[in-house]
Amino acid sequence: MNTIERIKERRASGVSVREVVEPAVNAAESLNETLNAFLQIDRAGATKRAAELDASGETAGALAGVPVAIKDNICVRGLQTSCGSHILGNYHAPYDATVVERINQAGAVIIGKTNCDEFAMGSSNENSAFGVVRNPWDTARVPGGSSGGSAAAVAARIVPVALGSDTGGSVRQPAALCGVVGVKPTYGRVSRYGLVAFGSSLDQVGVLAANVRDAATVLSVIAGRDAHDATTADVPVPDYASELTGEIKGARLGVSRALLGEGLDAEVRASIEAAIEAYRELGAEIVEVDLPTAPYAIAVYYIIATAEASSNLARYDGVRYGFRAEESENLRAMYRRTREAGFGPEVKRRIMLGTYVLSSGYYDAYYLKAQKVRALIKDDFRRAFETCDAIITPTAPTTAFMIGEKVDDPLAMYLNDIYTVTANLAGVPGISIPCGLSNAGLPIGLQLLGPHWSEAILLRLAHAYEQAHPIDARPPVCAASD
Ligand code: GLN
Repeated sequence: MNTIERIKERRASGVSVREVVEPAVNAAESLNETLNAFLQIDRAGATKRAAELDASGETAGALAGVPVAIKDNICVRGLQTSCGSHILGNYHAPYDATVVERINQAGAVIIGKTNCDEFAMGSSNENSAFGVVRNPWDTARVPGGSSGGSAAAVAARIVPVALGSDTGGSVRQPAALCGVVGVKPTYGRVSRYGLVAFGSSLDQVGVLAANVRDAATVLSVIAGRDAHDATTADVPVPDYASELTGEIKGARLGVSRALLGEGLDAEVRASIEAAIEAYRELGAEIVEVDLPTAPYAIAVYYIIATAEASSNLARYDGVRYGFRAEESENLRAMYRRTREAGFGPEVKRRIMLGTYVLSSGYYDAYYLKAQKVRALIKDDFRRAFETCDAIITPTAPTTAFMIGEKVDDPLAMYLNDIYTVTANLAGVPGISIPCGLSNAGLPIGLQLLGPHWSEAILLRLAHAYEQAHPIDARPPVCAASD
């Protein structure tokens, strides 16, 4: 099993970093024809870095010699940061994101940049300008999105861990659809410096991992105050992995029956019901919670996220970054042609929607109202967490859907985010873990949500379930070395 712990054991028995990293790069390359999970594989950089680490003999770092993949909307110095978009297709980052700097300091070896929906807008990876990622469990199906490449790379055991970003579910939903662990930290827990902005009040960098312990290890490395991001909080960072005691007796787990109703696939529902029972058997106390504003979350999210995106994406004008349309008669024409040719249809839809809800005359009716309902959603969570330590929900209403199934129906696609967007609106942390396979052999994910800064308890609850109900099946598309 390709895990951080296993890599450490192998290293301790004399295996070099090169011997760990080379098979990961080989697997990334050989599986990319099938999966399209990577937009850039940095064999030269990874080989050089492995040699440096081997020469230094350094083994102490929390991620010493661990190969990691990074979503292509997070800056790694010298590598491309395309965000899955033509408009940044030729952009190479001149600096490291804080999360990248921190994993490097902990000894990680970055092997490449992963495919994603354009500017992280999507739930299926079909919005990438560089082609869809395929789900390792069934290559006719989507891996989820927008961090689909990161999820697929972990699911196929190319890397034990990958970084993604989560604005409305983009770490948790692909984690669920690919059968891996996905953590969206509390807003302000992890620096956004060097993460290309989508919805700045919602964005967080998150971790995709093959198991809960590895996710915990990486989170401890990347979390904490950063002078480059004023929205990071000065809250002490626990050693999350050491909190995985297996002990969850007396934990109060909230269940909202309303969330297990309409629109939820029957197999997913049965799997979540079984997980609730499993938690009861592990000693958790199950309590009913009410989240009355949850039905409005999708509408609120798609107003706030698009409003922020329309503002954030105004900077791509052909002047400062990436692609520029040539031979325009004047500056305005250059802006227009650049954006017309550079952005894909979903990004354009969002920019138009966001510009509309912010425009004079509509601002109060849409944007301001959405902000008010966002406050109510936060309030719902605050009240719910007075009676429970965490809330359990499905991560996504269905298992992985077919490539092409929802592309012509944006609303159906948006509804896939029904369980995940609330956490971003409220700023609370969430984790998705595998809780079973459907009859068709597709992964199902359960989601745990907790109050601000409750990552340790969420990880502990997730780990306890994982230990009691391990899923040993491997996807048909999987790295040979695992
Ligand atoms: N699927 C959601 C969207 O399309 C969430 C994306 C994300 O979290 N980056 O906006």
